[in-house]
Amino acid sequence: MKEVEKGQRREIQAGFRCVQCRHRPHRGRPESPLFISPLLALRARGRNSSLITHHSSLRTLPPLPACIVPILLLFLFPSILAAQTSQPDWTKVEDETMRHFQALLRMDTSDPPGNEAPAAEYLKTVLEREGIEAKILSLDSKRPNLVARLRGNGKKRPILIMGHTDVVSVDPAKWTHPPFSATREGGYVYGRGAIDDKDNVVACLMVMLLLKRMNVPLDRDVIFLAEAGEEGSYQYGIDFMMKQHWPEIDAEYCFAEGGTIVSTGGKVRHAEIQTSEKIPYRVKLTARGPAGHGSVPLRSNAIVHLSQAVGRVAAWQTPMRLNDTTRAYFERLAAISPPEESARYKNVANTEKTAPIQQYFAVKEPHHHSMLRTSISPNMITGGYRVNVIPSQAEATLDVRALPDEDISHLLAEIGKVINDPAVEVTKVERLTRPATKPSRLDTEAFRLTEEAVKRHYGVVTLPTMSTGATDMSFLRARGVECYGIGPMRDVEDGPKGFGAHSDQERILEEALHKFVRFHWDIVVNLAKAGVPQ
Ligand SMILES: [Zn+2]
Repeated sequence: MKEVEKGQRREIQAGFRCVQCRHRPHRGRPESPLFISPLLALRARGRNSSLITHHSSLRTLPPLPACIVPILLLFLFPSILAAQTSQPDWTKVEDETMRHFQALLRMDTSDPPGNEAPAAEYLKTVLEREGIEAKILSLDSKRPNLVARLRGNGKKRPILIMGHTDVVSVDPAKWTHPPFSATREGGYVYGRGAIDDKDNVVACLMVMLLLKRMNVPLDRDVIFLAEAGEEGSYQYGIDFMMKQHWPEIDAEYCFAEGGTIVSTGGKVRHAEIQTSEKIPYRVKLTARGPAGHGSVPLRSNAIVHLSQAVGRVAAWQTPMRLNDTTRAYFERLAAISPPEESARYKNVANTEKTAPIQQYFAVKEPHHHSMLRTSISPNMITGGYRVNVIPSQAEATLDVRALPDEDISHLLAEIGKVINDPAVEVTKVERLTRPATKPSRLDTEAFRLTEEAVKRHYGVVTLPTMSTGATDMSFLRARGVECYGIGPMRDVEDGPKGFGAHSDQERILEEALHKFVRFHWDIVVNLAKAGVPQ
């Protein structure tokens, strides 16, 4: 046996242990996530930028003379303390984050057609270079998903962190900075996907790299899924993963896009963590009547019947219904709003006072109006083909965003009653939709730790939210995974200026991205690290 190996054995026998090699029993010392043998760490420092390294990488190092060990230990002591607080070197992390972020933004993964392959390959290379288990799984080789896993001791069920690598398509002519240039200007990074959803992808990547580099002992596996096809072709992404590779992503908790830290007037106001979402349906109204000559108007004209039907549906206020998420949302929003707004939020469910409040929302805060109910928006209308012909058919398509517990056949019957016209038929049309699910719970360890991380990093209150749009988390919620939508800080004013998700000039504040990585890291570490009681 070589001298150094003997030395290691002595240290292990004395009660020290290497955190990377957890086979050795540890004796008589408090469990500490990053506790390592000072001597091993000391020897590792010359060779490896990481404080913690593995026995195998030490085998060739010469033994240290015993007399200098106590002196060196004094120098080393602050490093051990620093390691125990387990904070990465954030300045270095920021440079690296920006490098990966720009590399991902420069890949044109517009969906359609998708072509997420370069992004998945890039992530795989970066992860594998650091010894993280990663694989590519695909229904179509041009549209792959990437799954990476860091293994824990299995005391708790895994946590899944995910982001989608596809982006919505662009009209390059409308972009000041080319959409796949990842231009940095004035503290922002511009590019399609900057806030939907390559910000989440890069945050997940950095969290994985840091967990691995810092050798954080885990009570549960941390799984990273970079999925394809979220923007309307999820048969290649989450649907494929759920149906064919469920064990790869099976988890107790999931974190993905859908939340944000809301800032207005340059000040962070509150955090929105998505715990529920509405379900999209497509409903068609078809009016029929006899065709005829345009010179002889008919009461039975299909266009006339359809217009009346659309008007009635648009004027109909669907019933209001709160769930756990929206109830908590309005209560908490009331607590942090100025008096007049607060009164509205507080009384939203008060039967005596709610009618004018809802009217106010319909005009001034349509987002809140939609959160309270199943919403209906007539968004397409077709009928007629020449000016002198009364058409025999006309159609309107309604975008229905249902509350998670909506009974859709009951809703169709209600729409029929509101229209009250036998010449108009109401039907549900197939739509690539997502499963309806209950909101994720607010009393979980994951939600509590997220709220705590929000407080620590942004100093504001967390509002659980139900998004009016849909995300891939609904698939996971349908399988019992408690999912929480998170995201970086955004200025509310940025969207209307044309810099929001899906707009013609998507951008993110660099500072917001870096803060998001720290926030994300904080949630995952606290939820997954070893030794925290359940
Ligand atoms: Zn998205």
